Amino acid sequence: MKQSITVAEARDIILGSIRPLGTEKVSLPECLGRVLAESVTSPWDIPPLDNTAMDGFAVRAADVAGASTDRPATLEVIEDLPAGRIAARTVVPGTAIRIMTGAPIPVGADAIVRVEDTQSEGTKVRVLATVPAGEHIRRAGEDVREGEKVLEVGALLGAAAVGMLSSLGRAFVQVTQRPRVAVISTGDELVDVDGDRRDGKIIASNSYCLAAQVRECGAIPVSLGITPDTREAIEARFREAMGCDVILSSGGVSVGDYDFIKDVLRDLGSEMKFWRVAMKPGHPLVFGLLGGRPVFGLPGNPVSCMVSFEQFVRPSLLKMMGHRSLFRPVVRARLREALRQKPGRTTFVRAVVTRDRDGLSVRSAGNQSSGALLSMVRANGLLIFPADRAELPEGSEAEVQIIDPAFWQLPEPGA
Ligand code: AMP
Ligand code: MG
Repeated sequence: MKQSITVAEARDIILGSIRPLGTEKVSLPECLGRVLAESVTSPWDIPPLDNTAMDGFAVRAADVAGASTDRPATLEVIEDLPAGRIAARTVVPGTAIRIMTGAPIPVGADAIVRVEDTQSEGTKVRVLATVPAGEHIRRAGEDVREGEKVLEVGALLGAAAVGMLSSLGRAFVQVTQRPRVAVISTGDELVDVDGDRRDGKIIASNSYCLAAQVRECGAIPVSLGITPDTREAIEARFREAMGCDVILSSGGVSVGDYDFIKDVLRDLGSEMKFWRVAMKPGHPLVFGLLGGRPVFGLPGNPVSCMVSFEQFVRPSLLKMMGHRSLFRPVVRARLREALRQKPGRTTFVRAVVTRDRDGLSVRSAGNQSSGALLSMVRANGLLIFPADRAELPEGSEAEVQIIDPAFWQLPEPGA
């Protein structure tokens, strides 16, 4: 067995061989969370016309100069203008048009008096305030100018972008495709969630966990079930998986008698790398390209599998989907307890980060065995325990990858 490589080295090699997928056209309601594959410029001004920001009266500022409660200016109301219509009349000296928010400014008018600053009296209106020219008028193109670049290639489309695209008349947009990701569990000891657990069988939780992780990053899981530990069965399942853009398997990557993943991949002609990555949990990792598609042989232990996905597969899927930001955010948090390890491997400690009055603090989420999934359920972060350190003292600061989006909704202390 060759020497271990570091997490960063493995990640660099993997990401160096991953390319973004092609593009596809999706309808506006489907594009939320997708990555834009075209740059979008506006075909028109938004708003399209000068319009009123208030309900009130469109006037000539000169007609109401000096108006006040004591000295109102009286004008003839010549039209009633709701939003979505163009005025038929022109505002000439001594007249006004009653106007609703959003309606285009009538010809002749140059200011809006708020309805609160007026008194209506039959066909007349008394204006009780002076307004400068331009008051309460939203100018054509003040939000977006015709020809202005609004969104760039690589933009992650959120709700505001979806709203903007609709304002630009874009019923469809070009986005980067999402990979279909085959998920395979290997192991003679495995049964499905409703399987018979007698004789030492265990439920293949990785199948469900990996599919969920794939979906969480916006890719499309394709569950290919459980494969027994034989070369033939594993090879058949990988051939089936070649209908997908990415292949994930779990188990069978150690050096045990039944660990066939790397042999099968070699037989199938994959350019393959097999490493011991100096990390914990997770240690053996197979990565290769099979007919150009990335293949990850992840370790079988449930937490090793999840943490390996986090470090290597998630950034790869994000890169394939055209994302510019590939990694989980890292925060610094103060340790509530000392942590120890035998130096040599980067440990990803399942951890709970909390916000208190002095900032962020962090503690272990419990049992750190590589098969202990409950502490992963409890954790909102992976604390990075550097490979060259034996102890992180209580009260010192550590870096934590935040893996649970709910973290960002933690209430402020005292809130
Ligand atoms: P392996 O990497 O195949 O030696 O598996 C390591 C450990 O992970 C063993 O205890 C397996 O039973 C367990 N394991 C392997 N695959 C899965 C799976 N799909 N779901 C849950 N546990 C698994
Ligand atoms: Mg196994």
